[in-house]
Amino acid sequence: MDNGCGQRHGTGIFGDSNGESSTSSYRVVGTDSVVTHLQNKPTTIMEVLCMGCNDQRCDFKLMKLHRRNVGDDDIEIKMQYCGVCHSDLHNAAGHLSGIRKLEYPMVPGHELAGIVVNVGKNVTSFKIGDSVGVGCMVDSCLQCKECLAGKEHRCLKENTGTYQGENKFGRAAVAGSTKLTLGGYTNIMVVHYKFAILIPKSYPLEMAGPVMCAGVTMYSPLSTYGVKSGSNVGILGLGGLGQMGVRIAKAMGAKVTVISSSESKRSLATKCGADAFVISSDKTQMSDAKGTLDLILNTVPSYHNYVVYQTLLTKKGIQVLLGLHAGLAAAMFLDPIVGGTSRIKMSGIGSIKETQEVINLCDQHRIYPDVSVVPVTDLNKVYTDLDSSNATGTRYVLDIANTLREDIVCDAPPPTISPDTNKMSLGYIMTELFGLMCCCRCW
Ligand code: NAP
Ligand code: ZN
Ligand code: ZN
Repeated sequence: MDNGCGQRHGTGIFGDSNGESSTSSYRVVGTDSVVTHLQNKPTTIMEVLCMGCNDQRCDFKLMKLHRRNVGDDDIEIKMQYCGVCHSDLHNAAGHLSGIRKLEYPMVPGHELAGIVVNVGKNVTSFKIGDSVGVGCMVDSCLQCKECLAGKEHRCLKENTGTYQGENKFGRAAVAGSTKLTLGGYTNIMVVHYKFAILIPKSYPLEMAGPVMCAGVTMYSPLSTYGVKSGSNVGILGLGGLGQMGVRIAKAMGAKVTVISSSESKRSLATKCGADAFVISSDKTQMSDAKGTLDLILNTVPSYHNYVVYQTLLTKKGIQVLLGLHAGLAAAMFLDPIVGGTSRIKMSGIGSIKETQEVINLCDQHRIYPDVSVVPVTDLNKVYTDLDSSNATGTRYVLDIANTLREDIVCDAPPPTISPDTNKMSLGYIMTELFGLMCCCRCW
């Protein structure tokens, strides 16, 4: 199962979870070789330092855990930075526990950036010294229709999340006592080369992690819905995803309107290049913006009345839900039910190809997220801030290389996390779906 950003049919939040599979070999798509060395149980393992939490309180502590050693098709990454996505909080705080099982200790992190320090003998696309990233997935079946079309994020058998993922396909073996994958809050990462992204040397490494999830999550729907010069795009919620969305949509030629709950985000919106700024609670501003947007990317992380934003759309306009709440899950079901005609859709991360495209685009256009590089011992504070609306809209990035050491003291108080309002349970999702089906604004 993936970690909430990765998707099956575009969402990834519903897992099949058939436990440890018995795959002992697999065929690498595009070659004739059958790789047999990388089985579910690695032959050799290494100890790594991680920041993990033991339960839903998200009280992060230093932990020594294990990873597999680099296999013939793997690369080993000396981690430099890891972005902190709001999905990390949803996962660690158990917001998705109504629809998936969780394992603690949990080590989140799917915005990894580091340097290759070791490559397996079959790896030709990466070399020692390369800058590389890893996003939300570390494996997929590579054989289904979607995988063969280069859409591993939509793998029909569900991709394996960078953290909390099961090694169903044989390329994401775990080690030691953990059953599920360990994410990027760690000093060493080992990943199959097909799931690594080459980061251009000219791109600042501390800003590259956020491109691996936030960047591609915004780029994928912008590209899917054909955003181009003259398109009118709305970005709802100016946090880690939102700020990337504004910048990427501008680079694609769109006119961008930020819709925010807070006046304090106006200056960040301007800095990112937004053309207009609307306060969502201001009736006049909302009314003035009616019928103006071709596409809204809604990044609000908690359950809210998203249908109200349909009024801002043009006649054929589409709102895409990205925040992990019951609305996103309901939208995933609605679209196939109404034959793809829904004007409320959802989207989940992006493919490996799209991730490579977006880091290259960011490099070419000098698109740099606003990041706050923090020591790993600040994680608890970061979670408190993300839970309370990320007031500055920054993307927090853990300074792994300089601060994840054996001698650090993790005595910060646990974060303050408000009660879960995401309504991610089957009951809520079905109620939500029924509501959407009865709503003429939605399809
Ligand atoms: P973030 O940095 O915390 O930003 C979220 C923004 O949403 C805030 O800055 C705030 O912007 C707005 N907001 C409005 N109401 C809020 C509330 N009650 N609590 C917190 N924020 C609120 O989060 P993020 O990392 O951008 O992630 C946003 C959502 O996307 C999360 O649910 C995350 O799990 C999800 N996500 C989904 C995917 C996917 O593949 N679908 C991938 C990555 C992340 P304003 O102040 O401007 O209103
Ligand atoms: Zn993410
Ligand atoms: Zn597949």
